Amino acid sequence: MSTPFDLDDDKPHEECGVFGVWNGGDAAALTALGLHALQHRGQEAAGIVTLDEKGLFHAHKGLGLVGDNFGEAKIIASLRGGAAVGHNRYATTGETALRNVQPLYADFEFGGFAVGHNGNLTNAQVLKRALVRRGCLFQSTTDSEVFVHLIAISLYSTVLDRLIDALKQVQGAYSLVALHNGALIGARDPLGVRPLVLGRLANGGWVLASETCALDIVSAEFVRDIEAGEVVIINDDGVRSVKPFGRQAGRFCIFEYIYFARPDSVMEGTPVYETRKRIGAELSRESGVAADVVVPVPDSGVPAAMGYAMEAGIPFELGIIRNHYVGRTFIEPTDQIRHLGVKLKHSANRPILEGKRVILVDDSIVRGTTSRKIVEMVRQAGAKEVHMRVSSPPTTHSCYYGIDTPERSELMAAKHDIDEMARIIGVDSLAFISLDGLYRALGQQARDPAKPHYCDACFTGDYAIPLTDWQDNSDKKLSLLQAAGE
Ligand code: AMP
Repeated sequence: MSTPFDLDDDKPHEECGVFGVWNGGDAAALTALGLHALQHRGQEAAGIVTLDEKGLFHAHKGLGLVGDNFGEAKIIASLRGGAAVGHNRYATTGETALRNVQPLYADFEFGGFAVGHNGNLTNAQVLKRALVRRGCLFQSTTDSEVFVHLIAISLYSTVLDRLIDALKQVQGAYSLVALHNGALIGARDPLGVRPLVLGRLANGGWVLASETCALDIVSAEFVRDIEAGEVVIINDDGVRSVKPFGRQAGRFCIFEYIYFARPDSVMEGTPVYETRKRIGAELSRESGVAADVVVPVPDSGVPAAMGYAMEAGIPFELGIIRNHYVGRTFIEPTDQIRHLGVKLKHSANRPILEGKRVILVDDSIVRGTTSRKIVEMVRQAGAKEVHMRVSSPPTTHSCYYGIDTPERSELMAAKHDIDEMARIIGVDSLAFISLDGLYRALGQQARDPAKPHYCDACFTGDYAIPLTDWQDNSDKKLSLLQAAGE
């Protein structure tokens, strides 16, 4: 079981979706819908905190999916008020406990305050240690709780100043939605690693959400992305923006485009679906191979495979069928179950594959488990050749900023070169998109190593935000970093 100081608990936990409403009428219902559209960002738990006209807060949280927790009309009805914040949590290790479910809520001298966090802090352990020494009593094991304590002990008087004081002390990636009696607040870390967008409801109310797909479901109009390092304060006076960190170029997470975001979302002005198709086309130009069919590993490989097939002039076929009633393989905790999960989730469409030279397209190879199983299945279905094309560069480094990746020792591309990977996966050929090719697909000329446009640490090891918790501990974490070559 994790404790606030459990340094064996190496992995970042928070890979989440956030949503907030101000003046939304039935804010709880809108938030439940928003969280439902963001379900892909976290399936472990969901929570909503609302604020009513009398200044009272109401909360409901639970483990499981949004629909499991907010499907009943009486629960939504109990969450009174026109303002709300909500959160979906994704945790693959560590505690699955109700006390870790967000939004976190606390009563301060200024009144109630609720906060939901997407991202991962990289100095949370250091801050926690200092806070506990000062007498702060942590209620959860989530890194996000440091926001609450930093706000509580801040010597500033206004809620906003206290929040900014807290933001200046944390390191890491965060997109926050927070609610207090005077406003809905949204904030992005200085590099804007995780997404956050602003939308407007038809009644004039405001919405904050991790992705635009959550605006669409509540018919909110997209207004703009919250900028890197920006804090927005939303209330009946409108939207006020402050930039406590000044202006600087952001480093948005490139993996959101590759895998994590929903394809119908638009991030930083770039549509995710179109981007994935462009990555596929670029991949085809870079590493074309003669074949009869292009087959995506569904669902995440589909747009890239479409782009690949169109560019290559090879038919696109659904040679693998996905069962939609099984969750993502990653949520399954053990390797054994994960293997099983792939079989539960995918099956071969034999008539499409038999006797064919097949190009399989997936978005990423992490541990290599999925690819190995899929390739075996495709071969068993009679494919003559299997060529694997991956719409991301090799994942060689762990993410510490909010995408759940295994530690480096478990990343296939950290241990093996591409030829070895091809042999282990069992393919006739294997190719990944190049880093420059990926940047080109995103509208850049190439990756500028002096000033990369995106956070691409998982492919480069270029960690733009200090990994203080890992450097601070002379024991296991440091040796892990050394093993990782950082
Ligand atoms: P693996 O079997 O470990 O190689 O995982 C690769 C598969 O997992 C790919 O099909 C990806 O679509 C998917 N994937 C990649 N990153 C993640 C993540 N952070 N969470 C869940 N699934 C992921």
